[in-house]
Amino acid sequence: MSSDAIASFEDLGLAPEIMAAINEVGYTTPTPIQAQAIPAVMAGRDVLGIAQTGTGKTASFTLPMINRLMKGRAKARMPRTLILEPTRELAAQVAENFDLYGQNTRLTKALLIGGVSFGDQERAIERGADVLIATPGRLLDHVERGKVMLRGVEVLVIDEADRMLDMGFIPDIERIVKLLPFTRQTLFFSATMPPEITRLSEQFLQAPKRIEVAPPSSTNKNVSQTLIEVAPMKKRAALRTLFDREEVTNGIIFCNRKRDIGTLLESLQRHGYSAVSLHGDMDQHIRLKMLDEFKSGAAKYLIASDVAARGLDIPNVSHVFNFDVPTHAEDYVHRIGRTGRAGRTGAAYMLATRQDDKYVQGIEELIKQEIAREELKGLDVVGSENLTAKGKPRRRKTDAEADNTQPSTSNGEGRRRGLLGRNRRKNPNKQAETKLAPEKIEKAEKPAKSEKTDRAPQSKTGKDTRKNTRKHNSQSSDAFDGNMPDFLKKQIK
Ligand code: AMP
Repeated sequence: MSSDAIASFEDLGLAPEIMAAINEVGYTTPTPIQAQAIPAVMAGRDVLGIAQTGTGKTASFTLPMINRLMKGRAKARMPRTLILEPTRELAAQVAENFDLYGQNTRLTKALLIGGVSFGDQERAIERGADVLIATPGRLLDHVERGKVMLRGVEVLVIDEADRMLDMGFIPDIERIVKLLPFTRQTLFFSATMPPEITRLSEQFLQAPKRIEVAPPSSTNKNVSQTLIEVAPMKKRAALRTLFDREEVTNGIIFCNRKRDIGTLLESLQRHGYSAVSLHGDMDQHIRLKMLDEFKSGAAKYLIASDVAARGLDIPNVSHVFNFDVPTHAEDYVHRIGRTGRAGRTGAAYMLATRQDDKYVQGIEELIKQEIAREELKGLDVVGSENLTAKGKPRRRKTDAEADNTQPSTSNGEGRRRGLLGRNRRKNPNKQAETKLAPEKIEKAEKPAKSEKTDRAPQSKTGKDTRKNTRKHNSQSSDAFDGNMPDFLKKQIK
């Protein structure tokens, strides 16, 4: 059957246990990459998937892999399938997907990533894992310790190959592939195909089915989109203004940085809004509890990061608020796709500061439309962002500071002059950057650093920069920053 003819998961021939899981997760239609890749993988073919995250590519290899694994049994220390991921966050997400889609099976997995003790991982391998989900460096560490044998691997997935290249993992991957049986099925995914990646794909794949899908770029017509220009320090006030004037049934607020999630949660709760939060540092148990509170309506607002929200079954919501402009344009499409589902209408708001200009431009180019601008009186870029409500001098970067909305007294004025002066010196060219608000204050805040540091620019030389990468991983401000959640520490029995 051609992929065009595939309108539902029923057509794909997946086992009833997997179908039940798909129903439970709430997917109704396969995404284009799923419609094309799943039949090919089920037929035993190699696949070259040129697709980004957000296209549903994880399920495109996990679902048929589970289908295949259900037919055999795991052997101690000899995994049957191997998924290589460039970062531990991605590996953890794939592991979550595996659990989600394999919830009605008894399949086992071992997640081999840095930052977690070897002991637990070794025990999981020893018990017998149907699938190994690993970052290349940690897998080789286990191989060198003699704890894992790869000659039983029937299916290899290399995910995000171009990012592997950026991170200097190609030599490791070549070493790993040499340890695998020559006769195997290989599924190779990359968002882009630079020459080095094309070479690798030719080396690893045999007569692959090539599937290329465009990143999601269209937004739902039922969702109204509005951009509100706001001074950085007025974002919370702007959010509250929107909450109070809009008829919000329930809303998700997306932040780029996980540290902002906690601060915003505290701030909203202090102002009497019922809110919960979701971020990658949370223990799985707490995450589910938070999600339940939101789903049941006990909490009206959910503050989330892209990483934490991904893969979770979050119900349709009336509003999406982008507290920060996402630095990756596709994330915008994902975020606002949480509202306006099933023919209902939804509203999406985005708070943007002057520093976000280039990201807003990227989003508008991707969605091929201009987002309507709105000014919230007193809260736009012109606003006196360093003034305090109670006439107290402002200390920089405190929660209270960011919550103030009122005009200030002389103390604040004096401080403001200082800030204005300093920023003028620092940003002589800023006027040219801002189309809609030609003058005023540039706050000395750095552009938001995305939670997804696995997308951070890396060396493109292809050299082994693993040492640096590990440092990068352990120091990043990503969802697992220096604080591995408990659920990752537990390997599935
Ligand atoms: P991925 O590209 O694998 O990172 O998936 C992006 C997002 O799409 C995840 O949140 C998945 O849960 C979701 N997703 C995957 N497949 C489907 C589907 N068939 N229908 C709706 N959502 C999906």
